[in-house]
Amino acid sequence: MRVLAFFAHPDDETLMAGGTLALLARAGHEVFVLAATRGEGGERGDPPLCEPEELGAVRSAELACAVRALAARGPFFLGYRDPDIGPNGELFPFAADDDAVARRLLPWLRQVRPHLLLTHGSRGEYGHPAHVQVHRVARAALAALPPAQRPAWYTPLAYVPDVPLEGLFNPEPAHWVVSLGPALEAKVQAALCHRTQHDLFRRAGQVRLGQPVSVEAFIAAVPLETWRRADTDAEPADGPLGRALGPAARRV
Ligand SMILES: [Zn+2]
Repeated sequence: MRVLAFFAHPDDETLMAGGTLALLARAGHEVFVLAATRGEGGERGDPPLCEPEELGAVRSAELACAVRALAARGPFFLGYRDPDIGPNGELFPFAADDDAVARRLLPWLRQVRPHLLLTHGSRGEYGHPAHVQVHRVARAALAALPPAQRPAWYTPLAYVPDVPLEGLFNPEPAHWVVSLGPALEAKVQAALCHRTQHDLFRRAGQVRLGQPVSVEAFIAAVPLETWRRADTDAEPADGPLGRALGPAARRV
């Protein structure tokens, strides 16, 4: 199968989907990683690893490193600039017009012709407006394709009751729980590529685990990923993501 993973910023592909992408690649599927922005407006590390105007290039290189670690193709970029974080930590969508973004996404869908499309979920995981925008744009772009050309669409961090990911869920229940197994190490290596975001990862890890943690421990603490079929509620027991992943994916 061909898989298009479309996320807002460099590092989303790893944090939300890295293990699944690595498993898909190992199973022989072609995995394309497409980012809406180069993460130009994000954090630069503490102490900063680069100047503000260098951040887009630095994070593009970090994403290239992560894509190699996951054995995926790319990275590819939709060409939007990531807005700077506001003075009180406000986050913003990357484009004023969803339809214009959908028109930029459509050629990727038509040329890659993915069987699976993986994007942000309905709540943008933790409410990030750029993530929610990607979700809306995916819905609009799929609606513009003839039904026979529409990939099966899945969103990550789908809700399951027994996984410790406080504050990081989309509200819809999961259809699939993916055990990362040996792909967890690829996800750790991909996370290590995103050096400008390590301080952010360690802060998130401290919140999640209640103590100071390394980047490796933050990622390794959750050895699974969850997915929701987003283009239909009727995901069969042998749905496309499960067929692509084999025994690593459990229908819930
Ligand atoms: Zn993001």
